Amino acid sequence: MDVKNMYIDGQWMLGSSGKTRNIVNPATEEMIAVVTEGNVDDVKLAIEAAHRAFYEDGWMESKARDRAELLLRLANRLEESAEEFAKLETLNNGKAINESRYDVIDAVNQFRYYAGLATKPHGQVYDVPDDVQAMVVTEAIGVVALITPWNYPLVMATQKIAAAIAAGCTVVVKPASVTPLTVIKLFELIDQLGFPKGIINLVLGPGATIGNEISVNPLVDKISFTGGTETGVEIAQKAAPTMKRLSLELGGKSPLVVFEDADFEAAVEYALYAIFANQGQVCSAGSRLIVQESLYNRFVEQLLIKVKKIKIGPGIEEDTLMGPLVSEAQLKNVLGYVEIGLNEGATLLCGGKRIEGRGYFFEPAIFTDTTPNMRIVQEEIFGPVLVIQKFQTEEEAIRLANGTRFGLAGGVFTSDSARAMRVIRKIRAGITWINTYHNTYNEAPWGGFKMSGIGRDLGTYGFGQFVEPKQINLKLNVTPAGWLPQ
Ligand code: NAD
Repeated sequence: MDVKNMYIDGQWMLGSSGKTRNIVNPATEEMIAVVTEGNVDDVKLAIEAAHRAFYEDGWMESKARDRAELLLRLANRLEESAEEFAKLETLNNGKAINESRYDVIDAVNQFRYYAGLATKPHGQVYDVPDDVQAMVVTEAIGVVALITPWNYPLVMATQKIAAAIAAGCTVVVKPASVTPLTVIKLFELIDQLGFPKGIINLVLGPGATIGNEISVNPLVDKISFTGGTETGVEIAQKAAPTMKRLSLELGGKSPLVVFEDADFEAAVEYALYAIFANQGQVCSAGSRLIVQESLYNRFVEQLLIKVKKIKIGPGIEEDTLMGPLVSEAQLKNVLGYVEIGLNEGATLLCGGKRIEGRGYFFEPAIFTDTTPNMRIVQEEIFGPVLVIQKFQTEEEAIRLANGTRFGLAGGVFTSDSARAMRVIRKIRAGITWINTYHNTYNEAPWGGFKMSGIGRDLGTYGFGQFVEPKQINLKLNVTPAGWLPQ
């Protein structure tokens, strides 16, 4: 099998250590690719190439229209190969093929959205008391490193790449080690499309070594990271001495609150979709279901009936709704949490087991009889495990919803629109839904409150993370300052 390489300074490169990593299809446990593993020296080369491209070779003065043109060409090429990308995403990550198709379309639209945004007006003019024209212009931050997780391997990378290139930065991308294949394939398109060398680089390898170098390297101006909260904290600590700009999209334990007046059918289906879509490996997954007591028994009964309708199987089969978990390590992690929940005294109503045979398949689990301090209620499991909590009053629902260190997402189901708005405004989270869940739009900002992160991806906010505002004050009548005595 050919070894897949990194892409540094416009060249495909093997890692200098000669080490490789086998990439596995989680549905079959078969090896589907071999990729090179970079080390610290390789990452330094990529960062230096990005630095040169920005500061010496002219990308800093690049024109928005030219950057937009490159992004539009990339969007078109990706769209032409959409089905190939979707299949590869499913083979590498395990997700249902329809979800992969949706992700690839999303990625295409991200390139188009940010191509459009690049050429829109940026900056402001201020009316100030002096005879001065006061303005703010925005300038690309410089060299940005984009570190991404394995749950949405393509779109997590493309949403950052599109915004960073549109803003005029140069880029070093580091995808998760277990799911690099669609990002490598994207770089094949980038290579064919004639992006200037050095402006967009790909490094492969473990976070502990190459991610660490990115965090400490003084030539990196900004890190835009999506991943776990602990990793985000570590990056922030290591990046502090060089005062890197940071955007951190981190973990969640998001609440979905269901009131007794909710549309019953809709709430039941959304409750399942919120946690079990993409095998629960979604940062914004509705992993805590908070149900009003008067509705509780009937609701849980329906969940148990409907959960059986979820077709589990290889993501590549068209009717699969839940594929395997991404890796053996992740399966072990999720099984560990089922153990923890049982030991804590919660009741496992269904699932929670590995499905025997090949592949990292897992039966969706639902826990009841939980208390707010249990670890399964407080910690992000990042798998198909739902914990249910019960409430009586609106105040109690809000208290429970806000009762973790996270604040990524949240939802409420009720037919009372005033209550819906009251409750959603009190949920301390960056992404919220009323009578729906999981809808995500490239146009709208994505990110969390509290320990779920700092900053936002997507939309105009996602563009904003890659620029610095600069104040320019122009004196309209040039006279001495009048500071010195005459
Ligand atoms: P992770 O934190 O283990 O890894 C994310 C990326 O960081 C990977 O590329 C990894 O190699 C790299 N990395 C690991 N250690 C590093 C270090 N010390 N320094 C620099 N980089 C390092 O996360 P994961 O397991 O890949 O993904 C799951 C997590 O991502 C979950 O917590 C999930 O909630 C979160 N996530 C958040 C969002 C969001 O938008 N908020 C979206 C998707 C996933």
